[in-house]
Amino acid sequence: MSRHRQSRFIFETSENVRTFRHQPFISELSVECQSCQSRVRANEPYSHHWMSSEDGQHIKLSLEEKLLLKRIERERVDTFIMCDESAVGRTRDFLLDAGMEAVPQLLRFLNYEASQLEVTFGFYVNVTKKRLYYETFPIIIKHFLDIDETVDMVFTRMVEKISSYVLSTLRVPMEACTIKRLKLIVHRQFNSHLQLPLQYRVKSDVRVKATKIAKPVDLPLLTESYINYHGKRFGHFPDSLQVNLYCFRVCPRTKELYAVPYLIRSEDVNNTPTFLIQTDVAGEFRGMHEIRNVRRFLRSDPNDRVLVCRQCKAHFSSRLHFALHKYVDCGRGIVVMSLDMDTDGESTEVYENCFSLPKQFFKFAWFAIGPN
Ligand SMILES: [Zn+2]
Ligand SMILES: [Zn+2]
Repeated sequence: MSRHRQSRFIFETSENVRTFRHQPFISELSVECQSCQSRVRANEPYSHHWMSSEDGQHIKLSLEEKLLLKRIERERVDTFIMCDESAVGRTRDFLLDAGMEAVPQLLRFLNYEASQLEVTFGFYVNVTKKRLYYETFPIIIKHFLDIDETVDMVFTRMVEKISSYVLSTLRVPMEACTIKRLKLIVHRQFNSHLQLPLQYRVKSDVRVKATKIAKPVDLPLLTESYINYHGKRFGHFPDSLQVNLYCFRVCPRTKELYAVPYLIRSEDVNNTPTFLIQTDVAGEFRGMHEIRNVRRFLRSDPNDRVLVCRQCKAHFSSRLHFALHKYVDCGRGIVVMSLDMDTDGESTEVYENCFSLPKQFFKFAWFAIGPN
């Protein structure tokens, strides 16, 4: 795995203007990301940098979409099938569309008002007149910001598994396979404890010595003050709250997740209580997460550090991908079955309680299937 260099996230102040810049490395070159760049006057609070929140990770549901979700709940629908409707079944394009767009879009929709998702991914494979079905074990997605990475990891491992299976047992390459159908079994879970996205969860897993905070923070007051302040250009935040606040942003271009200052009351980070503003998939406030060690929390991994899995010797340049890899037990946990369905290439599955998801909300053809 190649070592990709770390993006830079910086604030620059000159002539009374403060500019936030995101500089990712693309093909070994540091470029200026126009999507993330924001300029405010130097005396404005940091929150003004983040007044617009377009990032592709958050959704706004219309009334019809909320009603659709209610129907899914009411009819206890948990199975979703995506079909490639095009006559030319180009498997590679289908998998790219599904992995990059269709599946994350559906999961974000189902994440609305849920606290986490339990997802089983199934792939239908046609190869040499056989029909095979591959399925993962149920995978818990604890935060909506983990959706893209998890789907990407599952798709990569799944294609590897299918391709090594067809090569070793049927003696054909992956190119001989046609995949035009995917199945997702999704259980929406509620009431679980609010989690951080995996990228930040792995950092706080390590026990760190908490900084001693002299004065405890009035959390209900902090929450109420934040709700009154947020989204207003001239909002007031009580002086009695000597706290520093951070929020998450996702680059719409590179999909990188990063934490940035939202309100900085003191430069003395060791003695100032610090919180991260947590939101849900719709961008609604979901609570404050106390950051015990802000330097550690904000620090990205060093550029040149490569992590090696002790079990399988795979290399990773990102702690996030390494954590996902360990989470699925080096990929061993991914594939639990490959079933020969029938040999004439036709589907024999019949669903009674089935409806299609409206095309105006979903760019792709999805069928929702409830219990019969
Ligand atoms: Zn960016
Ligand atoms: Zn491993």
